[in-house]
Amino acid sequence: MEQLLDKFGRKISYLRLAVTDRCNFRCQYCMPAEGIQIVERAELLTFKEMYRITRVLSELGVNKVRLTGGEPFVRRDFMKFLESLSFNDRLDQINITTNGALIGEHIAALEKMKINAVNLSIDSLKEENFNTIVRRKSFQKVIQVLNDLEQSSIRLKLNIVTLPGVNTDEILDFVALTKEKDIAVRFIEEMPFNGKGLRETKELWNYTKIYDHITNHFQDIEKIDNGKSSTSHNFRVKGYKGTFGIIPAFTRTICGDCNRIRITATGLFKNCLFDQGVFNVRDFIRKGASDDDLKQLFINTVHHKPENGFVAEKMRGTDIVSESMSTIGG
Ligand code: SAM
Ligand code: SF4
Repeated sequence: MEQLLDKFGRKISYLRLAVTDRCNFRCQYCMPAEGIQIVERAELLTFKEMYRITRVLSELGVNKVRLTGGEPFVRRDFMKFLESLSFNDRLDQINITTNGALIGEHIAALEKMKINAVNLSIDSLKEENFNTIVRRKSFQKVIQVLNDLEQSSIRLKLNIVTLPGVNTDEILDFVALTKEKDIAVRFIEEMPFNGKGLRETKELWNYTKIYDHITNHFQDIEKIDNGKSSTSHNFRVKGYKGTFGIIPAFTRTICGDCNRIRITATGLFKNCLFDQGVFNVRDFIRKGASDDDLKQLFINTVHHKPENGFVAEKMRGTDIVSESMSTIGG
């Protein structure tokens, strides 16, 4: 089988696909209160196009897909799309990243499909703080979803963007949650993808600071090996049911084993979160590209995947990294 290999010998097997740029939340670290400039509907990839792209990539060795956005559940017929993807036997894992507001009624259906894991974004366990961060009054719904997902057969991971002075006082509470709950709690370093560029913050909460903070409090900690391409460094407080992890999204110490590519909601192919987008798959498809044309393009493009996120950022030239994560596809 033809494969996607870059010039550093890394095999690409994981696609992150943004199904929309729209979102029903306005998280402060992701976009301004008024939202971002969304694109015309016609510019979004159709589900048929997404299905085809995923099928072609799966024929090149991609066996894991994460659906993200924007908020995937705001796109009409998202559940139908998931069902169609679940019929692709080449995919070992289909995962979703969601803000949790609209997934509640679909949990039973998701269990029936091949959905392996849901990453639920929840930046605070305190109602007022949560609602302030996401600029919506949705805490009760999201907490209910957290509990329902935990009871389901779907693996549950929590995504917490570490926001200095906003939720850093809750880091230990999140770790404490893993005592009785078999969930993976992951702290993400904040990145400048909020529609404006890097936010001004008084303190820098990077990987080391988060790790030191946790280990100063919980001493009996064991490292967990989640495979070399894991996006987070993972640990368990001994005797606890769940785990915690730290995602060095901004300090980028995990790039060496990267096995991921991204496609945005408008079809922009990205070799790296920090690059500017390499080509538009949507336009290529709409000009009549065959499956073989697509395969060749993917093979050639992946070959030039930058070594790491710093190299990718440099290749952007003078362009500052400031798009919203909702446009990039988190
Ligand atoms: N709307 C869904 C959600 O929030 O889970 C999926 C898309 S969101 C862009 C994907 C992930 O990116 C979320 O876990 C979110 O917290 C994270 N994210 C967004 N902006 C970020 C930023 N500036 N720095 C770090 N992570 C960010
Ligand atoms: Fe929406 Fe997710 Fe961005 Fe929050 S992080 S505004 S939920 S896309």
